[in-house]
Amino acid sequence: MATPRRLLARLRETMAHGTAPLLELAQLVAAELVSEVCSIYAARPGEILELVATQGLNPAAIGRTRLRVGEGIIGLCAATGQVMNLPDAQNHPAFAYRPETGEEPFASMLAVPVRRAGRTLGVVAAQNRNPRSYSEEEVDELETVAMLLAEVLSTAGASDGADEGVGATVPRVFAGASLVPGIAIGQVVILGRRWRPLHLLADDPDAELARLNDAVQRMQQGLDELIRGAPDGFVSGADAAASREVLDAYRLIAADAGWMKRVSDVIESGLSAEAAVQRVTGELHDRMRRITDPYLRERLSDLEDLGARLLAALAGDEPRPAVPPGAILLARRLGPAELLDWHAAGIGGLAVEEASPAGHAAILARALGLPAVGSVRGMLNAAEQGDQAVVDGDEGQLLIRPDIEVRSTYVRALETRTEQQAGWATLRKHPAITTDGVHVSLMLNIGLHMEVAQLDATGAEGIGLYRTEIGMLARGVIADVAEQAATYARVLDAAAGRPVVFRTLDLGADKLLPGDAPEEENPAMGWRSLRIGLDRPALLRRQLRALLLAAGGRPLTVMFPMVATVAEFRAARALLLAEARRMRPAPEQLSIGTMLEVPALMWQLDELLREVDFISVGSNDLLQFLFAADRGAPALYSRYDLLSQPVLSLLDDLLTAARAARGGAGVPVSLCGEAASRTLEAMALVGLGFTNLSMPATGILPVKALLAELDLNAFRPVLTAIRRNTTGAASLREPINVWAREHGLPI
Ligand code: PEP
Ligand code: MG
Repeated sequence: MATPRRLLARLRETMAHGTAPLLELAQLVAAELVSEVCSIYAARPGEILELVATQGLNPAAIGRTRLRVGEGIIGLCAATGQVMNLPDAQNHPAFAYRPETGEEPFASMLAVPVRRAGRTLGVVAAQNRNPRSYSEEEVDELETVAMLLAEVLSTAGASDGADEGVGATVPRVFAGASLVPGIAIGQVVILGRRWRPLHLLADDPDAELARLNDAVQRMQQGLDELIRGAPDGFVSGADAAASREVLDAYRLIAADAGWMKRVSDVIESGLSAEAAVQRVTGELHDRMRRITDPYLRERLSDLEDLGARLLAALAGDEPRPAVPPGAILLARRLGPAELLDWHAAGIGGLAVEEASPAGHAAILARALGLPAVGSVRGMLNAAEQGDQAVVDGDEGQLLIRPDIEVRSTYVRALETRTEQQAGWATLRKHPAITTDGVHVSLMLNIGLHMEVAQLDATGAEGIGLYRTEIGMLARGVIADVAEQAATYARVLDAAAGRPVVFRTLDLGADKLLPGDAPEEENPAMGWRSLRIGLDRPALLRRQLRALLLAAGGRPLTVMFPMVATVAEFRAARALLLAEARRMRPAPEQLSIGTMLEVPALMWQLDELLREVDFISVGSNDLLQFLFAADRGAPALYSRYDLLSQPVLSLLDDLLTAARAARGGAGVPVSLCGEAASRTLEAMALVGLGFTNLSMPATGILPVKALLAELDLNAFRPVLTAIRRNTTGAASLREPINVWAREHGLPI
């Protein structure tokens, strides 16, 4: 379905002397498509689409006919980004009749969004009197015209305002989920909009094909160089290996013959190599945009990145654009290697359309200390490169073009925070102790070897949760025993005697490796984590052997995730003990514990506490199962609270049982969900009796600062009273917060 060269030739003529008037374009398209009508709508601030040119409708409607994004077929086309090919448009449920246009006689409509890099700039539509379905060739033609229009609308003079796009001048606030707390203020850079084709149309397809081949080769060479040795020196060791896997995946896609064939076909039809790459990447993106499978979505990020790299190679650019210091990166999705790349380029914060707090972009951003928000829908349509933006990672908000007062409030907040952080830094070397002398062990949650450095940076006492699957997910494969052992040994070496709790592979749900995407309705409750380990004992045994090898005689602590029955714990422990019996040297001490993520364990506590050396509450999963609320669903993110009757009662029961276990000697209990890093939650947990909390690095110093001012003797009875008196409330957050503020605590 190559685009007819005649249309392109005529477009080229029309645009030979710069930008063609929109009316001329509309006339040309109507003639080429044999349509009675061709109309162009441009996006205006406030999510409005305005008729800016028409061939066939009443010219008096130009500038008068305005539709909201989402209103009518034109609005629906802009809102969904989908082509609408309708033989009987007037009977479509979305049809919005506008008498001033005089469009009654026209039955059929083909509407195509005018988009650039995810941003909707307008809509172009053809209409015909006779009911007809437009052919694939016609859709293809109008899409090509839409691409040209995207250039015209985004570069048109300010006179017709067409360069503003949807909502481009008004301040916008987007609510999402907090991924990494903190504030970042800077200029917007948009992933995937780094390069734009200067020449859309080309006379000589052979020359363009040669340019494409040359660019593909140079891109491959660039990837080879990256794979050989991370030239900017940023990544090293395990991370270099991780980047390598990701880049290998890029190379596979780059070498995919089908993809390249389609680009070549589009070039043959008369587009430039740049335009063809952009067009084909856009097509693939549109085809895959509804896919929910996390693995395929990751590959989609790879594909988008690859398109950008190829465009860079075509432009002969350096691989990474200059980024204003502290820029705010906006992305639809973000792969781990990309995030490392942008971090090295100097970004200060990020907002991602499709990322939830427990996802991989979040985990890596946290490791890098970049304030971040996720699940921010619609921001890419509203932001433009160079806009001012604020990432409010505390509240999970992204502010685009904030007005001057809002911005200065954030600048002040950032200054205060910087001073506060300087104060916190002095806390680094001190243990976390309340004013009445209770010591709380604050530990780190990490998943990449490079994060061990956070131990010194934060003064955490050890690693309370090492997510062993993260490194493997970054690489896309399960490493063999020797590689795993080397990684774990590096972690133990760097921890230098401080405790490290290794959690065995917690794969499945949103953490899938290539090839193991089972068809499940409910993957979070499916065949995942320890269930896989017990059903494929060879896999689990290899990991356990690697852990024992890494310990090399040193003390070793191993924790099993997603345990639902005591029998599962016993089976997993038996595998570990069998490996340990064979290992020389055996670990000086072997501590074996379980996570408490599945509520059913609460009714097996007597037996469980007899078997385990320790328990760590995984509150991320525990809350998801307790409230039957998907932890990754943005709509449910703040609906259920750890600071609520059911959760606090459960934790209280657990602590009471654990204290009484083993004839009063007790079994240690910690909590290692993300909630431990939030000051109010940490205060309540310590108030309940927790003396060991494990959390992301960003939480350690704020929680330590809070504990240093907390009088636990005063707070305990208050917490008990709040729990007793606030019956039936969805959350106890407010009264706990009021008490903390009244006592001047740094919440
Ligand atoms: C948890 O579920 O709370 C937890 C710490 O494990 P993960 O977030 O890795 O599932
Ligand atoms: Mg979990």
